[in-house]
Amino acid sequence: MPTSPPDPPDLEHLGLFEAIRQALAVAAGVTAVDGIGCLLLDEAGALRFAAASDTTAQALEVAEELCVEGPCHEAFAHGEVTIADVQLEARWERLGTLLAASPVRTVIGVPVTIRDTPIGAIDAFSALPRIWEHQDYADLRRTADEIGSLIERSLELGLDTAGDALAARIRDGLGNQGLLGRASQIIAETTGVSVPRASLRLRQMAAATGVAAVTIADQTVEHGALPAPMELATQTEALRRAREQLATLALSDPLTGLANRVLLLEHLEHALERSKRSGGRPAIVFCDLDRFKTVNDSLGHEVGDEVLRVVAARLVAAVRSHDTVARLGGDEFAVLLEGVASDAEASELAGRIHRALQEPLRVSAPDGDGRSRTDYSLSVGASLGVAMAMPGSTTAAAALLHDADTAMYESKRQEPGQLTSFTAELRSAELRRTSIELSLRSLMEGRRQGDPLTEGLRLAYQPIVCLDDGRLNSLEALVRWTHPELGEVAASEIIGVAEAAGLMRPLGAALLFEACTAAASWRLDHGADELILAVNVSALQLDDPGFGQIVSDVLTDTGFPADRLCLELTESHLFAAAGEAMRTLRDLSDRGVGITLDDFGTGYSSLSHLARLPVDKVKIDREFVALLGEDGHAIAVAQTVVALARSLGLGTVAEGIETSAQAALALELEFDLGQGFLYQRPVTPERVIDLLAVEGRIVPEGDERLPQ
Ligand code: C2E
Ligand code: MG
Ligand code: MG
Repeated sequence: MPTSPPDPPDLEHLGLFEAIRQALAVAAGVTAVDGIGCLLLDEAGALRFAAASDTTAQALEVAEELCVEGPCHEAFAHGEVTIADVQLEARWERLGTLLAASPVRTVIGVPVTIRDTPIGAIDAFSALPRIWEHQDYADLRRTADEIGSLIERSLELGLDTAGDALAARIRDGLGNQGLLGRASQIIAETTGVSVPRASLRLRQMAAATGVAAVTIADQTVEHGALPAPMELATQTEALRRAREQLATLALSDPLTGLANRVLLLEHLEHALERSKRSGGRPAIVFCDLDRFKTVNDSLGHEVGDEVLRVVAARLVAAVRSHDTVARLGGDEFAVLLEGVASDAEASELAGRIHRALQEPLRVSAPDGDGRSRTDYSLSVGASLGVAMAMPGSTTAAAALLHDADTAMYESKRQEPGQLTSFTAELRSAELRRTSIELSLRSLMEGRRQGDPLTEGLRLAYQPIVCLDDGRLNSLEALVRWTHPELGEVAASEIIGVAEAAGLMRPLGAALLFEACTAAASWRLDHGADELILAVNVSALQLDDPGFGQIVSDVLTDTGFPADRLCLELTESHLFAAAGEAMRTLRDLSDRGVGITLDDFGTGYSSLSHLARLPVDKVKIDREFVALLGEDGHAIAVAQTVVALARSLGLGTVAEGIETSAQAALALELEFDLGQGFLYQRPVTPERVIDLLAVEGRIVPEGDERLPQ
């Protein structure tokens, strides 16, 4: 085949993210490196992950973004860099810790510039120690230029205003460059470091304090020097001692008087240092209140503030005098336990904290009129995670705090209110979630409405049948994902990650679009006019004020009729729906969209609430259906639900029917519809067409659970 230069990518079609990703993947494929990744400036003035050739390079970039250190930061500030072994680079301890399980070793980085302005950097790694050659730098520079031109072209094409998230981010990043440059100049002049060092420091301060770099830059330019708390947080040891008094003030949380995150990390660093010489080890207990938002929303901020102060006092009373209690922000607290002798002692101390927070909180707050006070006894609850430094470890403070946070997150996931200890398995579970999140993010970022689902993400459809004659009534769309590296990812895991990562809105819209497109074609090509399409909706989608519009747009774009669509929401979501969410539901219901109450029987079922919800079907959860055969109480409840639903004019569905005995019982209890492996497992769209061909009748496949 003749070799001609590749055609320029179709940027408008691909989107900037995908175009850069492809450029990096191609470059990594044809050059002698193992992977290439890219960090680019964002609207807040931080260098953020933009794209990578593969998941290992992606992990490197994300680690660099999180730690605000590493080859890309260095290349962005100073120009080309060569790092013999990133994991052993003494100045990048945090990065080294995060990359400990990664094959990334030696790295080179070069800046990416557009119109002579640095906008980010790319770095290439090799898993084996190697000497980089002139050619490697030339190759990487060419790739950086290519990315620079892609960005430039995307801005010329106006992708930034046409909904391309990455292009918009970079445009704003570019807009901030002047301000960041002026601030770096001032920091350099007032502190005596070089300008590139000052710009790096500015971004590190932003990460350490949680204040956007542009905000710090803005204040620096306005005052002609760094704002004081920022300065304090990054002072040298000598200066810090001299201003200890001031520092304590700036490093404490004004509401509770506890240490803040910066001070906690500093104490933790010292504790880790000391533990190398003495026997004990430090441990971190991370606490997050479970129902703080409810208290704040329902009783007001004054009560909320008081709750935080009472919790602070409880924590201080529960620990020893030399331990550090900190408020990290919002309703998050952390305790540094020092000189702990064993895991058992750490658990015992953490248990004390746990018990202290389980007791109801007595809070007194002024009433609205400001003259009287009301006493409340509140059961707010807290989820806890504990992580202990390994003996003789070189763990970085931030990494240990992160581990405790991971353990706390696990408590929340499993059962709020409990205490979880950090383990290596938790770290791999977290890595798995992160990996799913990153893949999902990259799938969603490059996507436009109407693009087909890619990378193994798809929908399966499970029939819902009329119990009396087995006719096909509806198809429920269920998300499926064969992840390129992780294999099959369960629907609940996909949805859980998407919700936690703020990706539920685009994912939900993409799935709804896909399902309506498929169902519209079944109507058109296979005469399935009566068929109802059921689509699951997560609480976060319903809470999104734009949700009603998304549904309307999808129906218009796909030509699928509103009265054939049915949205499935779980009972806890529906009962929690208020205000705007409730209006959206009513609106959709008025336009003919069906609403099914899914998984009924698993939450705090409140039958009396059913009447006020715009619901037209109730779907009994499969755990409940499983109980029907063996539990008289379950039968009595099911009878009541069916009778009540009928009196309200609602349809009933029994979910998870696996045996013909369950089917017979559901029929006897007079459920209208049934769904379950007995009739059909979720199937591919191709198989749906076969099912439609047999006149929509679904004959039970067999008695017992079918093999997967
Ligand atoms: P769900 O809406 O209650 O869906 C029913 C689940 O029960 C599905 O699991 C289905 O495969 C499974 N199932 C159906 N019949 C039987 C049976 O006879 N035996 C057993 N053991 N299981 C049965 P799946 O697909 O893993 O989905 C789990 C949950 O994830 C769904 O529960 C739904 O809440 C959520 N989900 C799935 N797809 C989506 C989606 O596209 N969007 C949203 N927001 N949530 C989704
Ligand atoms: Mg469902
Ligand atoms: Mg269900």
